Amino acid sequence: MSVCPDCNGVMKWHPPFLICQLCGLALRRGEYNKRWREKNQTKGKEDETQTRKKKMDRDEYLQWLLHQKK
Ligand SMILES: [Zn+2]
Repeated sequence: MSVCPDCNGVMKWHPPFLICQLCGLALRRGEYNKRWREKNQTKGKEDETQTRKKKMDRDEYLQWLLHQKK
């Protein structure tokens, strides 16, 4: 299974692209590998936790935004 480097969503293989089911990001196989390589290089070991936390923050922010509109 492939995981989106942007949002950690599931990516499906639609040749020649891998397409993220969550955010719609489309990457060729080589670009996909490159994105992950760069991501791992810049952020290191804690990458997965960091990304998860970031996603959670975004969700919380969304909730907050929705709440503000009421
Ligand atoms: Zn995505």
